[in-house]
Amino acid sequence: MSLLTKIPKVDRLLADPALAAIRENYPAGLILKAVRTVLENIRSEIISGSFEPINLEHSHIAAQVAAELVRDSSFSFRRVINATGTVIHTNLGRSPLPEKIAAHLTETALCYSNLEFDIASGERGDRYSHVESLICELTGAEAALVVNNNAAALLLALSSLAKGGEVIVSRGELVEIGGSFRIPDIMGQSGAILREVGTTNRTHLKDYKKGLCQETKLLLKVSCSNFAMIGYTAEVSHKQLAELGEEAGVPVMVDAGSGLFIDLEQLIGSRETTVREYIASGADVVACSGDKLLGGPQAGIIAGKREFVEPMKKHPLLRALRLDKMTLCALEGVLRLHRDERTALKEIPTLRMLTISADELKRHAARVLRRVRRSLPGSIRAELVSGFSMAGGGTLPTLQLPTKLVALHSENLSANQIEIMLRNAATPVIGRIYKDLFHLDTRTILDSDLHLLEESLKTL
Ligand SMILES: *Cc1c(COP(=O)(O)O)cnc(C)c1O
Repeated sequence: MSLLTKIPKVDRLLADPALAAIRENYPAGLILKAVRTVLENIRSEIISGSFEPINLEHSHIAAQVAAELVRDSSFSFRRVINATGTVIHTNLGRSPLPEKIAAHLTETALCYSNLEFDIASGERGDRYSHVESLICELTGAEAALVVNNNAAALLLALSSLAKGGEVIVSRGELVEIGGSFRIPDIMGQSGAILREVGTTNRTHLKDYKKGLCQETKLLLKVSCSNFAMIGYTAEVSHKQLAELGEEAGVPVMVDAGSGLFIDLEQLIGSRETTVREYIASGADVVACSGDKLLGGPQAGIIAGKREFVEPMKKHPLLRALRLDKMTLCALEGVLRLHRDERTALKEIPTLRMLTISADELKRHAARVLRRVRRSLPGSIRAELVSGFSMAGGGTLPTLQLPTKLVALHSENLSANQIEIMLRNAATPVIGRIYKDLFHLDTRTILDSDLHLLEESLKTL
């Protein structure tokens, strides 16, 4: 209690010569906020009975205020090093963009552009025209549209195609994606009525047929992107569903989720239907994400038949869901890289990390290990071990990619202590703990991360 009464008063501190340098560099409002934060921290330390002796000298508090101001003035949203091995990590920003498009992205963001200006005619242009023909070329679709994300794509498509009518979906496909995105909720928001058919594990074509009625406006197939069903299961393929839709005169939409534009089966040994395959087998509309397996920015892509996509372009919701110019620029860049499959696999980080060969990964891991060892204290030993990475982002849920990890063995720090210290380093390093050891999965560590990783490891 006596210590509490000795905490300096805010006014006295603010006027103290110890804060003179700070007063020159920061606005008064921010200094006041920082002083209050530091004093509040000291108060709680005293109350909770801190193990460290409490230093209430003004010079010491001034140093804490300076540190708090630096912390408060730095970007909240910033780079981290993904050493989790989860390639499309939703919490870590999903797909890092290709370096190849960086210069173009900076230029269009910092300067004026032809976002909605038709240079050839000198008249008002269409922002979607910059990507529509590319999407059509890459997927075989007649028409295409892009929006804020796949959730927005579904909301727009359902509102446009099925408002006030019924949408038939298999019970086994009423998925939750994470971050509270659920197919039935989106359906509710669009004004369409959900008509569930089949059972959790088995749905047959006859179930869809039974569900068809006067009110049916759409047949929807949702790709089970973030889970897998095994055992006694049955589902109706997108192809069969497209045939049924054709027969019944009802459009068929596929929520493809991850949005695969390149067949990766030969490279990773796991099968996922590409957008082109969905279109080719007769789906009228396909919706997918831009920042999952496409490896681009957050976006929702709608591709399909002209008669269904054109009305979406005129729908009032589109204005609220539209893409901004930086996203559009990045998306065009990533789509352009897809025109040559080899270039896409090499230049798009998400695709490169997913398809890296065992040999190349081994060389990369050796490089990471060398740099890690160089920056660790003598009391921590690093070695390469084998394990598995995941695709993540609700894609390829059963895929286990063999990987190389750097395991850290410390004489005096626990795995949890290492995790906390690295997470709070200058460039936060996010790894994973397995069998009581802290691991860095080398698959998701970028070459451009290496010097920052070294700096961050020095905090150990
Ligand atoms: C990821 C996913 C979504 C949501 O996509 P966002 O781009 O994150 O909005 C919707 N449906 C499926 C099947 C998905 O996998």
